[in-house]
Amino acid sequence: MKKILNFIDGAFVEPARGAYFPNTNPANGTLISQVAEGSAEDIDRAVEAARRAFNGPWGTMPLSERLDALDRVSSGILARFDDFLKAEMLDTGKPASFARRIDIPRGAANFKFFANLMRTQHTAAFETETPGGGSALNYTIRRPLGVVGVISPWNLPLLLLTWKVAPALAAGNCVVAKPSEETPTTAALLGEVFRDAGVPPGVFNVVHGFGPGAAGEALTRHPDVDAITFTGESRTGSAIMEACAPHVRDISFELGGKNAAIVFADADLREAIDGTARSSFSNTGQVCLCSERVYVERPIFDAFVEGLAARARGLKVGDPFDESTQMGPLISQAHREKVLSYFALAQSEGATVVAGGGIPELGGSLARGAFVEPTVWTGLDQNARILREEVFGPVCHVMPFDTEEEAIALANDSDYGLCAAIWTNDVRRAHRVSARMDVGLVWVNTWFLRDLRTPFGGVKLSGIGREGGTHSLDFYTETKNICIKL
Ligand code: NAD
Repeated sequence: MKKILNFIDGAFVEPARGAYFPNTNPANGTLISQVAEGSAEDIDRAVEAARRAFNGPWGTMPLSERLDALDRVSSGILARFDDFLKAEMLDTGKPASFARRIDIPRGAANFKFFANLMRTQHTAAFETETPGGGSALNYTIRRPLGVVGVISPWNLPLLLLTWKVAPALAAGNCVVAKPSEETPTTAALLGEVFRDAGVPPGVFNVVHGFGPGAAGEALTRHPDVDAITFTGESRTGSAIMEACAPHVRDISFELGGKNAAIVFADADLREAIDGTARSSFSNTGQVCLCSERVYVERPIFDAFVEGLAARARGLKVGDPFDESTQMGPLISQAHREKVLSYFALAQSEGATVVAGGGIPELGGSLARGAFVEPTVWTGLDQNARILREEVFGPVCHVMPFDTEEEAIALANDSDYGLCAAIWTNDVRRAHRVSARMDVGLVWVNTWFLRDLRTPFGGVKLSGIGREGGTHSLDFYTETKNICIKL
């Protein structure tokens, strides 16, 4: 059986306590590998290695060499594209059509992008008048934080890991990563790419394992870690924040969502239906940005619901390795239990199930997979739990509204605030409504269209801070002001 080891100080090593846990393919339940179950001892070793690299070869390496090394990591991922693709598909059950377009190319692009960004950085300078008629020069420099702990989820494993590792390293830090226990393989492959790219040992370390009471928590509590950057559930964010409090450690959080889509009657109906099908069902609804609450202006409500339900029913659910498959399984049987409990809850709350609501009938080995049907509900009111809690599955509830004011109030009536999608052809309304959304990201007439230079993050329970472009550098560096009296 294949073993996935920790990657510490440039080498693949057994876990300190010798324990392993199984990694299974959610499409058919087969065992893929045994994974090192990291513990506090492994985290200690990884943090020590990262600190040595930071105080040594990485910290003293000229900027241009450091960034060239990250370019080699980017090329190294692309050179092993098929290995990464297969690994991501086996760990997550993602269809090839999705992972080939999104996960792997964007994982590689993150390194190239942040290396290029660092090459063009400049800082602010001010000439300052002093009381005696003289002057002073103020200027600001960036310095890396030191050792950064990266804790990432399973839904876009390589993409979200590299989204944090790349800017952290480009800014000059060293990293200890704790990938999700559900999806360890591409993080392990990334270790191979770093080793083969000639990046000094200790710059990038991976410790596998679980969160609470295990490797994840040990990383957040380690006294020699300078910052924690985390993507995952809001309640995990809350636990990590507590763990970081004693050391007043920097944190950046990208957390859960219960995102709204608002469809106005003046929208291009077909585009809005296609876009919402994408924003509700992509990656089996397991994207933090997915729309689980859809509000539709009453005159087009029936036509919209009918169109969206038809898209849901028409999605090809099945074998991720079949090129025509559009939707794979959920990440695990445990997650399927959770999503199915929401299917039952929706019915007990009185929802009308317009599409899906069950388990698709798939033959052969796929019958053991964690599949559910893409599901559309109507008929609930705003206080139903289905409209308030993140399901993280291929689901959405569609509700009618009558006025712009009402749509804004409904969309904002949530504990979360990650993103919103607005569908309208009225340019003034697009600006007006976008500005009033209580979220970090708004898409108008599109969804999940990303430019890595833009700020990414959420408000309320959806996160703290922004990453992306120079916003990432703001987090992964300390800015220091220097004032010189002239
Ligand atoms: P999760 O919070 O269960 O786990 C994420 C990571 O945190 C895993 O590596 C896990 O082992 C670790 N972890 C868990 N408890 C920990 C603890 N106490 N201390 C330290 N580490 C701990 O999240 P998940 O189920 O893997 O991912 C799904 C969630 O992530 C959803 O809520 C989704 O909305 C969110 N998400 C948000 C974004 C965003 O950009 N805002 C992006 C993707 C996913």
